[in-house]
Amino acid sequence: MERTVERDKLRARLTKIEERIEAACKRAGRSREEVKIVAVTKYVDADAIGDLLSVGIDHIGENRAQDALPKMERYGAEGTWHFIGHLQTNKVKDVVGKFAYIHSLDRLSLAEAINKRAEALGIIVPCFVQINVSGEETKFGLRPNDVLAFFAETSNMKHIKVVGLMTMAPHAENPEETRAVFRELRQWRDRVGQLPYDNVDARELSMGMSGDFEVAIEEGATYIRLGSVLVKPEEHE
Ligand SMILES: *Cc1c(COP(=O)(O)O)cnc(C)c1O
Repeated sequence: MERTVERDKLRARLTKIEERIEAACKRAGRSREEVKIVAVTKYVDADAIGDLLSVGIDHIGENRAQDALPKMERYGAEGTWHFIGHLQTNKVKDVVGKFAYIHSLDRLSLAEAINKRAEALGIIVPCFVQINVSGEETKFGLRPNDVLAFFAETSNMKHIKVVGLMTMAPHAENPEETRAVFRELRQWRDRVGQLPYDNVDARELSMGMSGDFEVAIEEGATYIRLGSVLVKPEEHE
């Protein structure tokens, strides 16, 4: 199916986003290559994945395994798939071995389930540990007080590899208000990077969404998760 209109629109959006990413990198003295876009596709169907791939975006982020499945059936081999949503322990079998990365490792019971499933499949799963930096009640993620214990308790899980940390900043009208959250996650990454555990090699920072990705880049984000600014249909469409 021709999707010329959709692809032109997407290209136009991406051009603007690229300008903003490059400006943020420049302000922070970072190279553009350090920042990867994960296109968050929970708002759109499988056709949109084809559009994203056609404009050169191949990191795809999905929140729910059942929504991702039909998309993966069509485009699974062409993209790198990131599981970014809250992961229930009973859904682990639908995620491990299918997604390249899990961004939402946030509790011991989940780590145990992922490790067990990965062991059965004979694979190692790259994970981001999600930290609830801001301590908001409604957010998932480890509370700061529990972070070090979590790493100690999971350090013998050979089928998990912690590649980085992830957070979601509280919604703020002014993105500047999120800066402290992103900065704190970076400080956690630097600390966690010093831990002597074989299954931890935490270099990446998954942080920044449509409303706050520039601040996140300035604070060190290596994966920004962009949904609405990139792919959400306009209200009037
Ligand atoms: C929806 C979602 C995003 C993208 O949000 P936008 O504000 O639409 O860019 C990023 N990360 C997670 C975990 C999400 O659920």
